[in-house]
Amino acid sequence: MVIILEKNASQEQVNNIIKHLEDYGFQIHQSTGVERTIIGAIGVKPDFDTRKVRILEGVAEVYRITTPYKLANRSFHAENTIIKIKDVEIGGNKIAMIAGPCSVENEDQIFRLAKSVAKSGARILRGGAFKPRTSPYSFQGLGEEGLKLLRSAADENNLLVITEVMQIDHIELIDKYTDIFQLGARNMQNFSLLKELGKVDKPVMIKRGQAATIEEWLMSAEYVLSGGNKNVFLCERGIRTFENYTRNTFDLSAIPVVHKKSHLPIIADPSHATGLRDQVPPMARAAVAAGADGLMIEIHDDPENALSDGPQALLPDSFQKLTEELRLIAKAIGREL
Ligand code: PEP
Ligand code: MN
Repeated sequence: MVIILEKNASQEQVNNIIKHLEDYGFQIHQSTGVERTIIGAIGVKPDFDTRKVRILEGVAEVYRITTPYKLANRSFHAENTIIKIKDVEIGGNKIAMIAGPCSVENEDQIFRLAKSVAKSGARILRGGAFKPRTSPYSFQGLGEEGLKLLRSAADENNLLVITEVMQIDHIELIDKYTDIFQLGARNMQNFSLLKELGKVDKPVMIKRGQAATIEEWLMSAEYVLSGGNKNVFLCERGIRTFENYTRNTFDLSAIPVVHKKSHLPIIADPSHATGLRDQVPPMARAAVAAGADGLMIEIHDDPENALSDGPQALLPDSFQKLTEELRLIAKAIGREL
């Protein structure tokens, strides 16, 4: 068990914590850093209730070292991971905005939308070229042509690109056009794809599987991290529950939970989480207030005729208005957007 003390823990609190740990029969290893003191307790039985330590004064975090993920664990890496891509950061004080259509549909569409994205101040353009569709009869994406259009629309507007990779043999192709690989919800536990993404030298955004626990999601991150790629961030995009008014149920609390358990940045996707345009702004505002490191939002200027996910797309004007509101919320919690 690893116990991380509060930054301002008093000596009296430290002594009291150590006394408790010794009384429980643990062997103690204390490591006093400049910022933080960490105590390792050895000999913890599987049935020991760690809350007995968590409630002691001066204790900030308690981790069982038996968590199945290590590299993604905050006890392994106390500081937040900040991912730098050119002049954009994900996981720093500035909240990263990712926006664009669900799918790249044609040249005019992606160039118009890239312009709106840039106008709002967002720096990352999304757009699917290989689409994971529930029905084989639905639009499957433009493939490489879509990637080319996405890249040129982004370049013309000084934006970065994120796009989804669905299979291993597309990694090389997508790598030519993208700045960030998106691993979709349906592939969150595609372990062979995760292993290959561990070898790329670009950031990977891992969307939460529709029925994945936070621990399973962090295990997917662990796959990429253990492959040598340290630039991983997570995206909460809603989970399947018994509620069917919305497309998914947005797990807002995943944001503070991931921040607590991991050093990796976490962003939110209120578009897929709700599936309904009118639900997107309130959930986006909530996500920023809850500490999300970024947002991914689908936009379209002709949602009625969108080839995928029109009902959840915000019109460019609504997106612009939303970013202005989000800026105020970010400021209220000491962040920027
Ligand atoms: C998407 O972002 O276009 C997408 C398909 O999302 P998800 O994998 O979360 O369903
Ligand atoms: Mn979509």
